[in-house]
Amino acid sequence: MKQDVDLHRATRQILRDLSLAGLSELSVTTLTLAAIETLTSALSSMPVAKEVPTSSAPVVAPKAPAPAATSPQPTETPQFTPPTASPDEARTPMPKKKRDPKTISVELANWAKTVSTCKRCQELAATRTQTVFGVGNPTARVMFVGEAPGADEDAQGEPFVGRAGQLLNKIIAACGWKREDLYICNILRCRPPGNRNPLPAEAANCREYLDAQIDLVQPEFIVCWGTIAAQNLLGKTEPISKLRKKFFDYKTTRVLCTYHPSYLLRNPSAKKDVWEDLQILLVEMGIDLATLPKPAK
Ligand code: URA
Repeated sequence: MKQDVDLHRATRQILRDLSLAGLSELSVTTLTLAAIETLTSALSSMPVAKEVPTSSAPVVAPKAPAPAATSPQPTETPQFTPPTASPDEARTPMPKKKRDPKTISVELANWAKTVSTCKRCQELAATRTQTVFGVGNPTARVMFVGEAPGADEDAQGEPFVGRAGQLLNKIIAACGWKREDLYICNILRCRPPGNRNPLPAEAANCREYLDAQIDLVQPEFIVCWGTIAAQNLLGKTEPISKLRKKFFDYKTTRVLCTYHPSYLLRNPSAKKDVWEDLQILLVEMGIDLATLPKPAK
């Protein structure tokens, strides 16, 4: 029995430590289920419980109603009824930790300030009007990543405000969103002279800033617009035609790649492909396509 109590204490301590370390979800596998079952049955045969959860102890598994007891039950001992679903489905849902948009905005603004004086890429720093950090919802579910600012973006300091941006706005509206719902940024934060493609070294120099934005916003989904965005973010060499229509994982996000709006301006027939890709995203997000705004005639 001493062993059971020790096991109980040790398990509680581990769960508490994990919770304090920021764990908000506990993935329950067959193995942990078996361990919990063993632990639960060991606990239910204990005559007295010396240790009860303190009110401040973080709870890491949901409390289920206590089963009919044949021996005295500690009133606050967490009970666990193993789900009948397969191990993959047997995830213990935990509410996502609420993050404060204001705090994230302040941190993004700090990064934007750092970026505004960045001189990592000499040529870009010498030729830009200003840096174009990124805009939008600091806790957006979806982040858009483009290639680099063009002339309009360089002039206004905001991504996707030129012709490609206007088309992007229409695409955003077709998805039932507003620009402010999303977070929008680019692989580069400076305009490459003459709108040439970003150099690999420039993308590498700017990567810390992009990663900081992803880490702060923590989007569930990223849409990479065009080959440059897709290849750079994912470290791939395939063309966009081979990277679209499926999800990739990057950090904790799922990444979908599609054609760049500038490409659509030159090749309007590819709009249907982009719409196909975005429908994949919307469905994955749990959005009912039937609820989307009807396209303007
Ligand atoms: N094209 C991009 O990739 N990004 C912008 O911000 C504007 C045009």
